[in-house]
Order: sequence, then structure tokens, then C-alpha cells
Amino acid sequence: MHLRLGLIMTLTILSLASCATPVSDGRIRVVATTGPISDIVQAIAGERVTLRTMLGPGIDPHTYIATESDLFALQEAALILYNGLHLEANLARVFEGIKRSGRIPVIAVAEAIPEGLLLAWQDGDKAYDPHVWHDPQRWRYAVEAVRDALIAVDPAGSALYWQRSEQYLADLQALDTELRIMAERIPLEQRILVTAHDAFQYFGHAYGFRVEAVQGISTAAEASAADIRALTELVVTHRVPAIFVETSVSSRTIEAVQSAARAVGHEVRIGGELYSDSLGDPDGPAGTYFGMMLHNMQTIVTALAPADT
Ligand SMILES: [Zn+2]
Repeated sequence: MHLRLGLIMTLTILSLASCATPVSDGRIRVVATTGPISDIVQAIAGERVTLRTMLGPGIDPHTYIATESDLFALQEAALILYNGLHLEANLARVFEGIKRSGRIPVIAVAEAIPEGLLLAWQDGDKAYDPHVWHDPQRWRYAVEAVRDALIAVDPAGSALYWQRSEQYLADLQALDTELRIMAERIPLEQRILVTAHDAFQYFGHAYGFRVEAVQGISTAAEASAADIRALTELVVTHRVPAIFVETSVSSRTIEAVQSAARAVGHEVRIGGELYSDSLGDPDGPAGTYFGMMLHNMQTIVTALAPADT
């Protein structure tokens, strides 16, 4: 019902195209889907844009359906930025419709990453895992895509966008170095990261973790009893000390693994809450991309590193 409403509204929006006003009080109206994308826009375009983030704290992008208010915001935007690679699965048709109208640039920033750097979507029919922001080195390409998109719609801000995006890229480099140093507190053979859904493969690839999850890359499919059993076996076999819940996913399946491990005599802790698919509250420590990445690594290191390091 929601989806149908969305499609009808999209068509209505497209028919109203000539009425759109993409500039508000001299600022460019930008709509971004995820927090990590908005973080880039805010950092490099700040005062030149009015920014709307569709997917706030705790929102699951895999299952999110556009609201009426989202659709009106999209109608009025000068630029629409989304992750792509099928992360926002239920928004794809809305974005395709707007793209076809040719009126508003609609950019999938994760799709700017060279294919050779993308990891396969192991458990589904899509080509690539969309959770690319969990590796700052790969996320550089998204920063460049946002910069180029902003310059295309607002050439007057070009020098500023270049200057600030260079700073952002330098910050990503420094973040990567810091995360690498933090990860080294956990011996390589103990870097086993077990989470609710499979969002951390890029993170694992970057920082040397084997990553296992109850649910697959999308949260749309339910976890099965067999998934719980398989993960419990892994946790027990490797004596994994802690497993992790996620802010945008139910903790039920991870708690089921904990109970099943306990039933066979292995006590595994819930190591904390990770931000897999959304940032934290804007005023909190995980409210920025950088804060979120540091929170995740700190939580993982605290739970998995041996006590004497
Ligand atoms: Zn996800």
C-alpha cells in the first residue's frame, strides 16, 4: 500500500516538475538518504545547503519506504544523493523515476567506487555488498562523488567544495590510521566479529576481522533456526568472548545465539551496540561519521581485546 502510494506520488511529483524551487533562502536543497552521506555534505557544503537526511538514527535502510514528506522533499531538491548498490532497496523505483525525468541529479555515491574494490553480495542476487562506508579508504570515492555533484549544481561554491573535500579526505586518512592502530590491540586470530546482519565485511577487510552475521547483507530476509545454529557453532568452536547487537536491527537473533551458546556451556557476552547502517543521535558521540566509526572500533576492541593490552 505504502509503495503504491509512493509510486503514485512520484508520478504526481514528476508532473509538477516545473513548479519546483530547488533553492531555499539562497541555499541549495540537498536530500541524502544515509547519515554517512549527509556527514560529507554537511562538512564540505555546510552553510551553502539545506540538507535533509531521509534515514535518521536507528532506521534500517534495507526495508525503509519513502514517506509522503520524503517525496515532497525529493520534489523540491536540487540534488539527491543516495548510497546505491541496492542498500535502499525500496527507494530504487522512486529514484529511477526521478532520474528518468532528467530534472534533478540523482547520484548513487557508493557506485563511484571502482568495481574491483567492491566485495560480492554473497547471499543474494545482487552483485555487490553496499556497506562500503565502513572502510574509510573506499569511502573516499563517495566523498569525491559528493564534491563533484555539488560543484555541478552549484559551480559558485567550487573552490570551497574542493578545499573542504581535500580536508575531509585527509581526515579519512587519519581516521583509517587511528582505526588500524586500535584494531592491533586484538591479536589477529581473535579478530572474529559476530553481528546481527552482514554489514561489516568492508570493515573486516580493512582491519583484519573475520566477519560473521546471523542475517545476510539485507535485513529483509528473516534469520532461520539453521542460521542461529551455524553461528552458535562458530562462536563456541572459536571461544568467541563477545558478540554484538546493532542499533538498526532487532537484538533478538544475537540474544538467541548467546542463549544457544550458554546452553552448551560457552558464556558469550553481548559486547555492545554497533552502528551498522545508521549514525547515532546527532548530539551524541556517534552522531557523525567519524564518531560512529571510532565508537564501533572502540566497542569491538573493548570487548575482544585481551585484558592485559
Ligand atoms: Zn545493512
